[in-house]
Amino acid sequence: MRLVVKVGTSTLAHSTGRLNIKRVEHLCKVLSDIKNSGVELVFVTSGAIGVGQGKLSMKERPSDLPTTQAAAAVGQCELMYTYDKLFGLYNHTVAQVLVTADDIGDEIRKDNFMNTMLRLLQLDVVPVINENDSVSARECVIGDNDTLSGIVAAAVNADLLIILSDVQGLYDSNPFTNPEAKLLRVVEKIGSEHFAAAEGSVSKLGTGGMVTKLQAAQIATAAGCDMVIANGMNPDILYDILEGKEVGTKFLSEKHRKREVGYDYDI
Ligand code: GLU
Repeated sequence: MRLVVKVGTSTLAHSTGRLNIKRVEHLCKVLSDIKNSGVELVFVTSGAIGVGQGKLSMKERPSDLPTTQAAAAVGQCELMYTYDKLFGLYNHTVAQVLVTADDIGDEIRKDNFMNTMLRLLQLDVVPVINENDSVSARECVIGDNDTLSGIVAAAVNADLLIILSDVQGLYDSNPFTNPEAKLLRVVEKIGSEHFAAAEGSVSKLGTGGMVTKLQAAQIATAAGCDMVIANGMNPDILYDILEGKEVGTKFLSEKHRKREVGYDYDI
């Protein structure tokens, strides 16, 4: 089984922007264990700008582009140092792959990206992906890692994309404004009603929200990859998802739409 896990800044960092050490340690342990069970793992991480902001002791997210890009350069380094150390504890090797929209939009560069990814997986390495925030801006920006994770899941032909966030999943209306909003367990086909329900939810530390998660789900499911949005507060939730338990919101890819329960992935 090939799995892409995307983790947002709000899961990785405290509201100060500094790393949530306890959670990141737990996450890397669970991911390492899942990899030990035979799953091919690709990890899409946010947090470069947020963690850079914390490391540079900036009180707020920078408002100008050069400072934002500088913070990302500092934060990305801190992230990789942390992942290298924590995955290394469990004998896993990580590799940093940073991309921009130009890389994905250009056929040759996209081919190169895909070939590198596949070779890294063959080499039993965990590719750690982020947008190259220090150079991507304006016309070459993907802009959010939800969309990036959908692109990555499609590019590597993943079976499942899991987006860990600070929300429980997708609701039938905005839970911040409607206390009666109900969590949707399974979405068979994404429609305008889902986008309407997703409007208005944005993350404080990262750049994504529910709309970008739906866009990721569209990209992934169109490529034959299922997707789950779940709360990453406790990374053990990854085990539950892989065991087919009812967790968060599951978006079924075309090939799985007929199926009624569980995932039945071949691990
Ligand atoms: N690439 C950004 C970062 O690492 C995150 C984008 C997002 O929050 O989706 O800070």
